[in-house]
Amino acid sequence: MNSHTVAVIGAGAVGASTAWHLAKHGHHVILIDPKLNEPIKRSGTLPGTTASLGVLMGHVFRRTSGRGWRLRQRSMALWPSWIEELNNQENPLQLNTPLIQLASCAAEATQMEQLAKQRKHLGLELISQNSNPCLGRSWPHTQHGGLLSHQDGYVEPISLQKCLRAALQKQDVEQIKEPVVYIERSSAIGGARWLLHLAGGTNLSHDAIVICAALGSEALIEPLGHSRPMTPVLGQVIDLELISDQNNWSGWPAVLVSHGINMIPHGTNQLWIGATLEPGDQPSKCCLKAMQNLEGDAPDWLHKAKVIKQWHGLRGRPIERPAPLLEQLEPGLILATGHYRNGVLLAPASAEWVKQQLNCVTTS
Ligand SMILES: Cc1cc2nc3c(=O)[nH]c(=O)nc-3n(C[C@H](O)[C@H](O)[C@H](O)COP(=O)(O)OP(=O)(O)OC[C@H]3O[C@@H](n4cnc5c(N)ncnc54)[C@H](O)[C@@H]3O)c2cc1C
Repeated sequence: MNSHTVAVIGAGAVGASTAWHLAKHGHHVILIDPKLNEPIKRSGTLPGTTASLGVLMGHVFRRTSGRGWRLRQRSMALWPSWIEELNNQENPLQLNTPLIQLASCAAEATQMEQLAKQRKHLGLELISQNSNPCLGRSWPHTQHGGLLSHQDGYVEPISLQKCLRAALQKQDVEQIKEPVVYIERSSAIGGARWLLHLAGGTNLSHDAIVICAALGSEALIEPLGHSRPMTPVLGQVIDLELISDQNNWSGWPAVLVSHGINMIPHGTNQLWIGATLEPGDQPSKCCLKAMQNLEGDAPDWLHKAKVIKQWHGLRGRPIERPAPLLEQLEPGLILATGHYRNGVLLAPASAEWVKQQLNCVTTS
């Protein structure tokens, strides 16, 4: 294998995973992001990874062919070993399973029945109509049944990022805490191919650049003559505390999905609910309310719960192209961005794809 000097721009789930994976395979990697300067916590408008719930819906994906399906399958195959390697004592990391997705109508229930038959080997099981999969705190709307996925679930995104940063340090990946202002093709004969200009005035040269800057990616490639427009889609999340009662989360899955909304129980009395899908970059109170009411289907105990924390973040959605954008735009100019709603899920498969691309890049 050729070893390259590689700069990864953006240290969210995709960029940090990619930097770690490349370094493990012998490349000389630096990771650049002004957010590396800040502690990872949830307040204000957040980058996708920090805002996200880390839900991995790989096996319940509706399509059974195409790039989206292949990437999901690859990521789901990689996650268990990634978690084993990344997990550390200070930030325990685990894949929390299973996931239950409830059908909202008869047509969806029929589709789920098909999937359960086809994907038994992937751990899918049908939940029959009117059976209540959640025992301790009952869930009222199960008249159409649903799908139980034993291997889907979630990874906690804050722990994931902390584990990735620790793993990057172990691999001696230099972490630069500044934004990249622009990228230039290098004219040095026989030298590195790409020049990076940082906000602090430093210039760096590298064989390859991997752009994982989500909504910041477009501005970096535009001056080089590449247009990959993206639009922001905002997502809000709330952390609810339930009024103490005799019930607990026993019988609940790690993730319950109803009306397209994810619910993740934690502690004895808390529940994360997310995420809204709002065009633009300003949170709407109406969307938040609709999510909390689960479009009128929320049970009484959920209505009475108190919001103890809320946050929102931005997803980058490619315009007129499918998510994610995985492309080698020119030799050594690699795009791994625009993951929209599935950047955490797809981080391992995206990192692996980038590594394969580097095999075609010649060294300086
Ligand atoms: C509320 C919410 C819930 C979500 N839930 C899930 C979920 O359950 N499962 C799932 O898989 N996905 C989920 N997503 C989507 C997921 O979060 C994103 O797809 C994913 O985080 C994208 O990761 P990323 O590394 O590409 O981008 P980000 O995490 O957005 O990171 C991009 C980084 O690039 C940096 N950057 C930008 N410009 C520059 C520059 N010029 N120089 C240097 N650095 C730069 C930024 O500072 C930022 O840190 C959710 C998103 C939201 C908002």
